[in-house]
Amino acid sequence: MNAGVRYGDIVRTGARHLAEAGIDDAYFEARLLMRVITGMSAARWIMSEQDAAPPVIAERYERMIRERMTRRPLQHILGTTEFYGLEFLSDARALIPRSDSETVVEAALDLLTPDRPVLVADLGMGSGCLLAAILANRVEARGVGVEASPDAASLARENLCRLGLDVRATVFEGSWVDWTGWGQADLVISNPPYICSALIETLEPEVRHHDPIAALDGGTDGLDAYRELTVLARRKLKPGTPLVLEIGFDQKEDVQEILSGAGMVNIGSCPDLSGNDRVVWAIQPRS
Ligand code: GLN
Repeated sequence: MNAGVRYGDIVRTGARHLAEAGIDDAYFEARLLMRVITGMSAARWIMSEQDAAPPVIAERYERMIRERMTRRPLQHILGTTEFYGLEFLSDARALIPRSDSETVVEAALDLLTPDRPVLVADLGMGSGCLLAAILANRVEARGVGVEASPDAASLARENLCRLGLDVRATVFEGSWVDWTGWGQADLVISNPPYICSALIETLEPEVRHHDPIAALDGGTDGLDAYRELTVLARRKLKPGTPLVLEIGFDQKEDVQEILSGAGMVNIGSCPDLSGNDRVVWAIQPRS
């Protein structure tokens, strides 16, 4: 019988290392990593905390803690993350799905009558989390994702496939400027890059060094993508088509002004669960 170190002690040490590396939810992450390695449920974890961990588990755990201490995101270390109740592959190819973005899904679902065979377009689809979450909840809907990064497009395809949604979704690999499907879409969503260029270096290392810069950098004032999308939407969307946009917490007025200035109508917004303005939408006018 080996006198292995107890699970609880290993995790407490791991949490201390993570906290020293500047990670906020150190104990939560430390415990989650152990639960993933061992496959323990939350209940099982409580019962096993005092048990001795096999050395092979302890070594594997310490390797993961060391990796996380470099501020590599937890989602990349685990290889997956949860978004809107679905599991997505997550790696450096695309922006990590954020729970804030679930607000885009909610707003889109509110605008989509169930049981209608609509086409949803996701511009800059990244990992595919927004489009997949919408399609999973609207079984009659089809989707198209537009993605300029071949890396992100490949991750999106893998995610759609894993979720069994590839039969209802296609990926256009290219710029939304070159995409010719605008006039067919019944609803358009986007979580474009919206961080001001000068602020990128102030972001947490997980974001700054591991999310693709093209998914973050919105130009000098962070609004470049909104201006471009609005011009294209006005020119190309069918009358009555909603455009639903994720925004930064302080961008509501600016983005609404861009949309209304271009002639979009019925402009609205909603906050995320933390209370920050997170989504703005507008409708292409009927005339
Ligand atoms: N919400 C992301 C962040 O703050 C930014 C994503 C984006 O620019 N679309 O890290």
